[in-house]
Amino acid sequence: MSFVNTKAIVVRASDTGEGDRVITLIAKGIGKINVYAGGVRKTKNKNSAATDIFAYSDFNLYVQSGKYRLNSAEIIESFYNLRNDIFAITYASHCAEIMMDIVQEEQPADDMLLLYLCAMYMLSEGADPELITACFELKAACLSGFTPRLRSCVKCGALFDESNYYYSVEDFGLVCRECGGGEGRTFSMGEGCLRAMQYVAASEIRKTFKFTLDDISKLQFVHICRKIIEKVNEKEYQKLNYLKKLKE
Ligand SMILES: [Zn+2]
Repeated sequence: MSFVNTKAIVVRASDTGEGDRVITLIAKGIGKINVYAGGVRKTKNKNSAATDIFAYSDFNLYVQSGKYRLNSAEIIESFYNLRNDIFAITYASHCAEIMMDIVQEEQPADDMLLLYLCAMYMLSEGADPELITACFELKAACLSGFTPRLRSCVKCGALFDESNYYYSVEDFGLVCRECGGGEGRTFSMGEGCLRAMQYVAASEIRKTFKFTLDDISKLQFVHICRKIIEKVNEKEYQKLNYLKKLKE
């Protein structure tokens, strides 16, 4: 038997047995792991809160027969404010799904974990969830090796001297009008959206979310960042559709 201490966030929790729970963690220095947490759903269990979904906790684990099991856990941050806000919690779930798709089993991904924690912090502080989520999506794409090319046309290298730009999802970058900008799966954007994308791509992780955008630029930014992460992970994310129904 070996022992492991790690700080981790709970991104999935499913109840099992009489009072047990299987949790999926994104753990510092380890990556994605499943942990069997015995007895945590029983009343007065001292590890209960620390193994709740979205809790960031200090975990003492042990490995038995190749499987992680919980010894004890102490909560560091519960993101309490998030838990009472259906909108914020749905954005947090959406970002967690993206992170789970990127982080591999037992492949350390501390940058992704830090990015997610920063996003959770911003969401729990009441920041604009659409903007935070879009920043998360774009930065997550960059961290997984798909940084969009945002300085010149990806096809011909032309520099831009205009106020309208085209982003090509297929080409992971800007394309000029001569190279197909405005056609097919290209999206039009203005200066504000482009500057925001350039900022997120180049920023330190902790500073990723620290800017504001006017309404039109935000609409473009939110739309394009979603397309980028969906292209990277080859998947359409559905969780936020539920919020559209709530808003109607
Ligand atoms: Zn071109």
